[in-house]
Amino acid sequence: MTTHRLINRRMAIAEMGKAGLAIVVFGSAACSDGDAGATTTSPGTIPASTAGPGTTATTTTTPGSNTTGAPTTTAASASSFQRVNLDFVSAYILYRGGEAALVDTGVGGSAAAIEAAVGEAGLAWDSIGHVILTHKHPDHAGSVDEVMDRATGATLYAGEADIPQIASAAAPQAVGDGDSVFGLEIIDSPGHTAGHICVLDATAGILITGDALSGTGGGVAPPDASFSEDMTVAMETVLKLGGFNYEIALFGHGEPLLEGASAAVAALTAG
Ligand SMILES: [Zn+2]
Repeated sequence: MTTHRLINRRMAIAEMGKAGLAIVVFGSAACSDGDAGATTTSPGTIPASTAGPGTTATTTTTPGSNTTGAPTTTAASASSFQRVNLDFVSAYILYRGGEAALVDTGVGGSAAAIEAAVGEAGLAWDSIGHVILTHKHPDHAGSVDEVMDRATGATLYAGEADIPQIASAAAPQAVGDGDSVFGLEIIDSPGHTAGHICVLDATAGILITGDALSGTGGGVAPPDASFSEDMTVAMETVLKLGGFNYEIALFGHGEPLLEGASAAVAALTAG
């Protein structure tokens, strides 16, 4: 139902040669706390990846966008992502070769949006081999059945403590610290929900935060206390997430943080 406004916000494509991993990001323009329409940052743009799933993705730049391009600019790797606007939440797709992993599914009714974005990358549902839910909330897990019905070859993953509250026909596989899915590191990140997980692409330097962190329009904040189960634990998770190394943080809600992300996260609990 939101298809008509999906793809036109901002998209950035780059490439990551070493691992052959291209990333497509579906995002919201803003979270619900007042920065609607914020366009403070935009992913840098690099021509569509040769390592990614296709070369048809459109690249656009937002006025005033950063000029650094993809933050991982070593010769061996670059990162890429595309942002598609759902109402107030983000989902993410990461590609390696012709296979993809979807992180979160958006609210109910998001399948068409996801399909459109996968199509932008030149692929279809059958390329999605992995669906990772950061947590149980319906703005992240709401389209899980729609997605799993279409991505018929996909395995579903979630944090163990959230799985009982995830209403899905497919049984999620429990993952957490020490697990790797599609070459992506799973990080237990409880607090917002008990079974919350984050996804770290260590090679590209990207953390997909779910709701363990929030974007603030160029910055980062802890999760919204009013929607989080245990803020004490959530702040322990913020401290934990600040201890990893990543340049980019991609939030469930709010503008991506495209530079210096792990340092910014670490600063949230410093002093
Ligand atoms: Zn949530």
